[in-house]
Amino acid sequence: MKLIQWTALAAGTLVVAVSAQPAKEQAKAPPVVTPGPSAQPATPPSDATVLFDGRSLEKWEKVGGGTAAWSIADGATEVVPGAGSIRTKQAFGDAQIHVEFRMPKDGGEGQGRGNSGVYLQSKYEVQVLDSFKNETYPNGQCGAVYGQHVPLVNACREPGEWQTYDIVFREAKFNAKGERTAKARVTVLQNGVLIHDNVEIDGPTGAAAVTVETPGAGPLMLQEHGNKVQYRNVWARELGK
Ligand code: MG
Repeated sequence: MKLIQWTALAAGTLVVAVSAQPAKEQAKAPPVVTPGPSAQPATPPSDATVLFDGRSLEKWEKVGGGTAAWSIADGATEVVPGAGSIRTKQAFGDAQIHVEFRMPKDGGEGQGRGNSGVYLQSKYEVQVLDSFKNETYPNGQCGAVYGQHVPLVNACREPGEWQTYDIVFREAKFNAKGERTAKARVTVLQNGVLIHDNVEIDGPTGAAAVTVETPGAGPLMLQEHGNKVQYRNVWARELGK
């Protein structure tokens, strides 16, 4: 009996060690939920900061500096492979964020199909991926807090349909010495379906532009990952503490 207990403990320790590593843990895929039909772009509320209205990327810049060089057509911007990720010129702390995105129909598999990402404060990625009948590791599928949290359900629409993220983000807190006293937290709805319920984010996710978690606001970033994902109707509301 003691041997069995020791073995179980060792196995538990191993699981903890593995889950602290980025991305590839073999968690179970979440159930598929079919969301309601795609709708017209939601009109931003009166107190929102409109970040992309379908016409101009003037509120964005290339990560690392320079002009945001994604294309714009028919009220949406499309990732231009090789043009780099883009971020808002404005930095955000606690915020409600609305993003609409659409998957290309040009195929690919796993992480190579419709990969992009919404990075909160440029540190924490809510994965954008075509996970409609496309398997990958669950904590890297669409809606995952990349490498950290599998979405509660797979609420993806099929390629070519507009999808939404509605995100409530609470930034990490730090004391005067710069030590973290509370992790960042996030609630996410995809296509109106809850996929994260106020989960803690344990530091920057894999492939973040900002890899060290420091105090203070940060820009919203959209990832270029080689796939022609489209975005429209991006807005944010700054929240009180
Ligand atoms: Mg990504």
